[in-house]
Amino acid sequence: MRTNVTCIICPLGCRIRVVHSKDAIQRIEDYQCGKGKDYAVQEIFNPMRTLTTTMVVRNGQLPLVSVKTSKPVPRDRIFDIMDAIAGLELEAPLAIGEILVEDILGLNANIVATKHVLRKYDVKKCNL
Ligand code: SF4
Repeated sequence: MRTNVTCIICPLGCRIRVVHSKDAIQRIEDYQCGKGKDYAVQEIFNPMRTLTTTMVVRNGQLPLVSVKTSKPVPRDRIFDIMDAIAGLELEAPLAIGEILVEDILGLNANIVATKHVLRKYDVKKCNL
């Protein structure tokens, strides 16, 4: 079979053509460097993605914090990760880059914050 892969390693975005069977590569065409060739092979047999999503924050100035995986994870585990973090609530304050979930699902990747979330100000009632 033939699969077209758009390389995302650099801004050139080469359209790489891969001729392959279920478990072997026969031919790779139209790549401009070795990184693209490696990426195309990975896309065929083990596609990886960096997950970006949000998580719930308690007592924060914002109700949600944007998060991402610290490195690409297998694409077919993305929904497992979403399920695993769906019920979690974090406590403010949170710092950008802070590890929120370590080694998610044993995939050797952490869930990290991509935004600061300060603690909600205590609003004092006044009787004016
Ligand atoms: S194949 Fe090489 S030159 Fe082309 S997009 Fe990928 S990294 Fe860039």
